[in-house]
Amino acid sequence: MVNVWQQPVTQIKGIGEETSEAFRDMGIETIGDLLTYFPFRYEDYEIRDLADVKHDEKVTVEGKVHSEPSLTYYARKKSRLTFRLLVDHYLITVVCFNRPYLKNKLSINETVTVIGKWDQHRQTITAMELKIGSFSQSHELEPVYSTRGALTVKGMRRFMKLALEQFSDAIEEPLPASIIQTYRLWTKKEAIRAIHFPRSYEELKQARRRLVYEEFLLFQLKIHALRKIQREHSQGIAHDFSVEKLQQFIQQLPFPLTGAQKRVVQEIVKDMRSPYRMNRLLQGDVGSGKTVVAAIALYATVLSGYQGALMVPTEILAEQHAHSLKQLLARANVSVELLTSSVKGKRRKEMLEKLAVGQIDIVIGTHALIQEEVNFRQLGLVITDEQHRFGVEQRRILREKGESPDVLFMTATPIPRTLAITSFGEMDVSIIDEMPAGRKKIETYWVKHYMLERVLDFIEKEVQKGRQAYVICPLIEESEKLDVQNAIDVHSMLVHHYRGKYRIGLMHGRLSSEEKDAVMKAFSQNEVQILVSTTVVEVGVNVPNATVMVIYDAERFGLAQLHQLRGRVGRGSEQSYCILVADPKSETGKERMRIMTETNDGFLLSEKDLQLRGPGDFFGTKQSGMPDFKLGDVVHDYRILEVARNDAAKLINSRAFWHDDAYQWLRLYLHESGVLSGEKLD
Ligand code: ADP
Ligand code: MG
Repeated sequence: MVNVWQQPVTQIKGIGEETSEAFRDMGIETIGDLLTYFPFRYEDYEIRDLADVKHDEKVTVEGKVHSEPSLTYYARKKSRLTFRLLVDHYLITVVCFNRPYLKNKLSINETVTVIGKWDQHRQTITAMELKIGSFSQSHELEPVYSTRGALTVKGMRRFMKLALEQFSDAIEEPLPASIIQTYRLWTKKEAIRAIHFPRSYEELKQARRRLVYEEFLLFQLKIHALRKIQREHSQGIAHDFSVEKLQQFIQQLPFPLTGAQKRVVQEIVKDMRSPYRMNRLLQGDVGSGKTVVAAIALYATVLSGYQGALMVPTEILAEQHAHSLKQLLARANVSVELLTSSVKGKRRKEMLEKLAVGQIDIVIGTHALIQEEVNFRQLGLVITDEQHRFGVEQRRILREKGESPDVLFMTATPIPRTLAITSFGEMDVSIIDEMPAGRKKIETYWVKHYMLERVLDFIEKEVQKGRQAYVICPLIEESEKLDVQNAIDVHSMLVHHYRGKYRIGLMHGRLSSEEKDAVMKAFSQNEVQILVSTTVVEVGVNVPNATVMVIYDAERFGLAQLHQLRGRVGRGSEQSYCILVADPKSETGKERMRIMTETNDGFLLSEKDLQLRGPGDFFGTKQSGMPDFKLGDVVHDYRILEVARNDAAKLINSRAFWHDDAYQWLRLYLHESGVLSGEKLD
């Protein structure tokens, strides 16, 4: 059987070499390419009452020709045709440029439909399109395609019609009947017809719904198939430990786990026990309690007789984590050590020896962990915190220090669910979407620059109560192009303003890491009360006594980043505040400020950010690995995406999918896209 979809467009009667050349320039070679070249909008012929139409608005009217058309030529080949048209009780004038042939087609009393711009003062429509006959009955929507070269929109419509007439019966149905029934989807044949030539908005909606579902399902099938294959090919560690002991450990924690924490712990533990290698991303908003989840997973690996490693991007973070993990694991008789570049000489040598023989169970550190001299006796679990801070290469090196250890990535950068389920193809994702009870909401205010005086007074009041403040500036040096505050200037301004009453620190990316650590240490010990900084403090830093976060030129930051910065306060028991100093010019800028003042929910914010910026911009262009969907829009069609994802997961893990004829087409698709042949494996 020949698959029509893959036949060249020249198989369509009426499409010759020349047209097919033009199509090729647009990336259309097969009949399938043509039929899935979707319109980007539709011309609407809905008739409106002229009384409701504003000056210069585009309108469609239907009426009867009321006067002989008069034709005049001007310039050289230009012409202008005018006639009177009776529309209901209005008598208006219609003007058509450069269509002299219409003169002989328009006879008195003939019904015509005109689309054009309405000039209210002259009671005239300048026609963009004129069709003889009535279209109001069908209320047809005409497709508008983007075209190139010799192809016109009208030409496209004609070829599309030809293609459908000749081949729509041969359009195969890829989806199994069961799915079509469950969601009452249109068949592919119906949907393809209606996406090009919808007879109503309802038809258009149904056609889109069907085709978007299929598009998302195929995409998700690929992801899930890939993941399944990768898992099954991976030789991981089947961690074997007493669940009771782990339960006991969880019982004696200083607080009960939240529901979300329990759920992700289960997901992680299940992966760890399986013989496949875990490759999981743990997402949780700042303060959602990822550290204790990490501690539980690390304890589980130790219970199974392995060692665990936690890698973090900065020394400060490493120290913080080492401190909290030691506390959490204190009673469990587990040895936890910190390994950074500051651990030197004899102590370092000892520590490395202990690691190599397995006398250290859990090690926490920075890049120091991936140095060649670091060896483990038996590494079972690797966790990296703020994973986007590490390169792929660094994560690989750490992973290879064991024999296929399980891997968990943690991040507080809320990734919108939409992106999380489309762009982390090969990773499983766990989400902590619940905050521990009793957290105080950070109060967020948006002020204009002229109110700075009051902001400074506010900082002072908090500092006098014994609290501390961050002041964040976008750039460290004067830039000619960008009119932004620089940290150095702000620092001297504050020093001047507070006249030596408080100690004011300065932190930016030009400092060496020792200098940065020194500044942070001084701040965390309250030797410095106000810290002026660029965004280097963004991630993970924990100074619970800091209650004020002032962000200069806040409109320059994306929502996700603003939220990260805000997360540096509100970590202790005191009420905390975030003050956005911004005079945004654009509407989106203002919108961002408003959203920040309205919600503290990182996931909600990231969804909004995605809507405001579009998926391309979210992680920086193309980095996101977002596929280009032909029809689907991950933001707008999110519900469909979620349904398709669940369906794909179920299908891939069902026996039927791999054996039943109903799924034949889908299996073929996976084969052809190279997923099943192992080409895509790393
Ligand atoms: P993050 O996810 O930002 O790394 P942390 O793990 O640092 O968050 O947790 C933030 C704070 O919340 C810590 O002080 C931690 O002890 C506390 N915490 C974590 N889980 C809970 C819980 N279930 N109940 C109460 N407090 C919790
Ligand atoms: Mg953390």
